[in-house]
Amino acid sequence: MNSPTFYSTNLKTSPVSFSAALLKGIAPDKGLFLPEVIPHISPGEIRKFSEMEYYQVAYEVSRQFLAGEIGDTELLLMVRDAYNFDIPLEHVVDRKYIMRLDQGPTASFKDFAARMMGRLMQYYLKKNNQSLLILTATSGDTGSAIANAFYGLKNINVVVLFPEDEVTSRQRKQMTTLGGNVQIIGLNAKFDDCQAMVKEAFADHELDHLCLSSANSINIGRLIPQIVYYFYSFSRLRKNNDEQVIFSIPSGNFGDMMGGVLAMKMGLPVKKFVIATNENDEFPVFMRSGIYSKIEPSKNCISSAMNVGHPSNLARLVAVYGGVMDEAGNISKIPDMEMMRNELFPVSINDDMTRDTIIQAWNRHKLLLEPHGSVGWAGLWQYLDEHPADNTADQLCISLETAHPAKFPEQIRKLINIDPDLPPSLEGIESKQESYLHFQNDYRTFKEFLLNNYKK
Ligand SMILES: *Cc1c(COP(=O)(O)O)cnc(C)c1O
Repeated sequence: MNSPTFYSTNLKTSPVSFSAALLKGIAPDKGLFLPEVIPHISPGEIRKFSEMEYYQVAYEVSRQFLAGEIGDTELLLMVRDAYNFDIPLEHVVDRKYIMRLDQGPTASFKDFAARMMGRLMQYYLKKNNQSLLILTATSGDTGSAIANAFYGLKNINVVVLFPEDEVTSRQRKQMTTLGGNVQIIGLNAKFDDCQAMVKEAFADHELDHLCLSSANSINIGRLIPQIVYYFYSFSRLRKNNDEQVIFSIPSGNFGDMMGGVLAMKMGLPVKKFVIATNENDEFPVFMRSGIYSKIEPSKNCISSAMNVGHPSNLARLVAVYGGVMDEAGNISKIPDMEMMRNELFPVSINDDMTRDTIIQAWNRHKLLLEPHGSVGWAGLWQYLDEHPADNTADQLCISLETAHPAKFPEQIRKLINIDPDLPPSLEGIESKQESYLHFQNDYRTFKEFLLNNYKK
């Protein structure tokens, strides 16, 4: 088996190998990498997944993209090491389930992608005797997932910038209590300033020798791991051979959703993806009208990790449906809108509805949701209400919960008056020693710091 090569969604550079796509992150023409050929997994193979551990399914699925690039033994070691936590499939009612992707070290689904990407990068860096400095700006979840995923890896240093006033203390402590190869810097500025500073560093040729790399959600090394849990959950819950599943995905940058769509294109029998956004509804509007315009600045909703006015993975989705969209959101070739509307159901859920759903889910089913998962669950019910033929007790539905409720204690307490238990990964975090630097919003200071601390 040979691994596919990866093309850029802007179609202006030649396809590259997986390792080149992984280490570059973004294509030279600013497009996003996608496999030229989407591998296929047969129904028989999917049936076999039902008897496997999660890491084994991860191995089988990733191998479709990586065989020939990474030895089978190494790949197996990587997935075993990355996926050492549970993936609960919680029964709610009839055949409706919540898939909890919140048991990793930072209690958000971003652990799935970040942990695998870190190990993939380490593999190639060791092999080529290279090193890398990862720079990331975060408003919360991404930074801690990256910091935890890369903590302790060889040949990789990590610097995370965060806005001191825009991150909860729990989110901050998930990053600042690590140490080692992870350096955290609090900026006296807004998230956008942190991001601008990281961008300036990437464009600064005087830093080229530091081998900067970003670990953001567009890296192909994050996309492939996000295909796996769709196969895993379906194979566990399916009852018969010709059944199709409905997934509901709370979405912001559309990385999670792209994983699902690729799983479907690989052969997973999906009836519909409910793409549930918060009030940042640029995608639902695009699907209705065929006209795309970003939301600038993005709206502040309580499902804060989904406050995205221009999803960075949208160019990939458009590409999978035969269109071309550039990094600014301009469409030069319209995708097959009919096929998209057949396969995807976009829905926007506002904050009131999100709060209401947390209350209803608890009162009716003792189902504990946090704001992101609530958007997904509300979106699923909106779909079922509008499609009575699918609203049957027998229809398998899986709604994704992307963060642990204990990450949003104030919201949950206010709405349903309970204090969610901390998951094991967050226990003891309050009393751990923090260490991080404080910088003003000044690029020179940041640059000097990088030059003085990370020279070759
Ligand atoms: C990042 C994130 C999302 C959105 O995922 P995308 O892949 O960006 O669509 C949803 N929920 C939580 C908790 C997140 O951290």
